[in-house]
Amino acid sequence: MLRRPITAMGFYLLLALPVAAGAADMSRLNADVIRTASEYRDQLILQQKLEDLEVYRRQREVDSRAGMLDKGYISKSEFEQSKTALARAQAKLADTQQRIRDAETIIGEAEARTKLASLPPLPSGGYSEAGGFVRFNGTAAWSLSNAGQIEQFFAARFGRPLPVSARGESEVHRQMHFDHRNAMDVALHPDSPEGRALMEYLRKENIPFLAFRGRVAGSSTGAHIHIGNPSLRLTGVKR
Ligand SMILES: [Zn+2]
Repeated sequence: MLRRPITAMGFYLLLALPVAAGAADMSRLNADVIRTASEYRDQLILQQKLEDLEVYRRQREVDSRAGMLDKGYISKSEFEQSKTALARAQAKLADTQQRIRDAETIIGEAEARTKLASLPPLPSGGYSEAGGFVRFNGTAAWSLSNAGQIEQFFAARFGRPLPVSARGESEVHRQMHFDHRNAMDVALHPDSPEGRALMEYLRKENIPFLAFRGRVAGSSTGAHIHIGNPSLRLTGVKR
């Protein structure tokens, strides 16, 4: 499956179609995604602050109730209730933090898409580090069902699971109308030893990828490796 090459014509069509559909339209829709995702992220950052406070408050409650339980002032079940409330608050915070990372990644990918539109398309099998990101136009017919092979390679080499931050489309992608159905994001900096090893492997296997060094120079926020063709399509956008 993985070895079945897509034709060069197929890939150029994929890149050219949105342009043919109207480059201005595409760039406007793309700008919409960036704006919506940025607003969404900013709201989540505010929400995160409140949830941080809630976790702190619940933690203090658990600590004080542990003392009260020791002295026999409260029952075991009352103590368990506050532990459950703490776990719930922590899970909510972790979910918000994940959504913030998802939104950051989408902003980075949408910005890259804008830049890519102004760069010449890569030939089949082409590799480039121009424009601030690393691109490889592998010709293997990549599909999410091939992810296991990449994960196996990584686990065997580094003795830990591949840090996958998005496998296909997340709820955030859907909310942003950002097509990520056949792509996988890996939270590795392309300049890290693990990131370099992963990119070497992908090139050897002819799997297309786009690697990001982060949106702000000197910061690794948003740095990741997107496996699969760049998402150049928007889905179900209300106009
Ligand atoms: Zn991605």
